[in-house]
Amino acid sequence: MYSLIEFIRETYQTNKFIPLHAPTFPGNEQTYVAETIESTFVSSVGRFVNEFERKIEDFTKSPKAVATSSGTSALHTALYMAGVKSGDLVITQALTFVATCNTLYHMGAEPVFVDVSTRSLGLSPIAVQAYLEEYAVVDELGLCTHKETGQIIKAIMPMHTFGHPVELDELKLICQQWNLILIEDAAESLGSFYKNKHTGTLGEFAALSFNGNKIITTGGGGILLANDIVNGDRAKHITTTAKVSHPYEFYHDEAGFNYRMPNLNAALGCAQMESLPLFIEQKRALAKHYQTFFEKSDLEFVTEPDYATSNYWLNAVICPDLRYRNEILKATNDAGVMTRPVWQLMHRLPMFKDAMRGPLTNSELIESHLINLPSFPTNLESTYA
Ligand SMILES: *Cc1c(COP(=O)(O)O)cnc(C)c1O
Repeated sequence: MYSLIEFIRETYQTNKFIPLHAPTFPGNEQTYVAETIESTFVSSVGRFVNEFERKIEDFTKSPKAVATSSGTSALHTALYMAGVKSGDLVITQALTFVATCNTLYHMGAEPVFVDVSTRSLGLSPIAVQAYLEEYAVVDELGLCTHKETGQIIKAIMPMHTFGHPVELDELKLICQQWNLILIEDAAESLGSFYKNKHTGTLGEFAALSFNGNKIITTGGGGILLANDIVNGDRAKHITTTAKVSHPYEFYHDEAGFNYRMPNLNAALGCAQMESLPLFIEQKRALAKHYQTFFEKSDLEFVTEPDYATSNYWLNAVICPDLRYRNEILKATNDAGVMTRPVWQLMHRLPMFKDAMRGPLTNSELIESHLINLPSFPTNLESTYA
């Protein structure tokens, strides 16, 4: 255990507190942000929002990226665009960050928790198929409904845990068979590819996040990815108060949201996008470095699934048991090296305790055995030539 603490300190070459994640601003961040202040265009108008959206489209090859005020608001927009209504059910993971489910809650919809795969740590196609076969039926109108409650099962919302892509082809097939919409919570997976396609581009909609702890940051912000231009344009419209363009008249053709990313934040994002390839390279090198270290230990380092190239947003290890996990958590945090357990499973939180769920064997195993390790990018080459 002490060797783990020493290893992490050597990796980061510091005796100070080591956080789990921290943003770095190696490029044009100051210049672009200053430009918004000098021009006074810090808010809803300015060149950086469009530029940021185009940069994300270029990188992900998504037909349409819409910049939003947070990853959560991008998720809300995605669910709204998918037509999720009050009383509907959406299949998702219990092993996720709470934001995945909060938007459902506020829309009056309900999550259904299905198990994750131990390979990806994300939604398991096998578990989804088993759940649907037991509880769902597709009616004459083509609607997938819950056999017992009659509620509509509208969508599947997998999350690419710590940046590792879920099995998207299999989930897409299930969506076709059961007439469900695929929405990817890709908040953690900018820079992660599933069979050479960027995560978030296989579902009908996806959300990315640029909160301060993600692989790039805009301070706070997100992106909604839409799989076709028409949906993308409509998403842009409803995230900008559904205002119909006119030189001076105020006319809004539906009840929209004010979810637009401010130009100030987009300026930071444009600069961060220039460094994204570097961050991915550094994070993958760091993961390799951890992997080599853990080969000689009884902890199992979490690696990318063989069908994917991951951004390794958060590095993780699986401990042999809960006691061992707790000992490492305490020793590392006491020593000023931040480590964390995974999120408590969603059905343990008061607002989701009554949510429907299938067996959660793998989710529970991961919950009690996994630890996240410091994962912010560092230049390993300079220290380990
Ligand atoms: C960060 C995150 C979000 C939400 O992003 P915000 O930008 O903080 O609103 C949603 N889902 C997951 C899985 C996340 O990690």
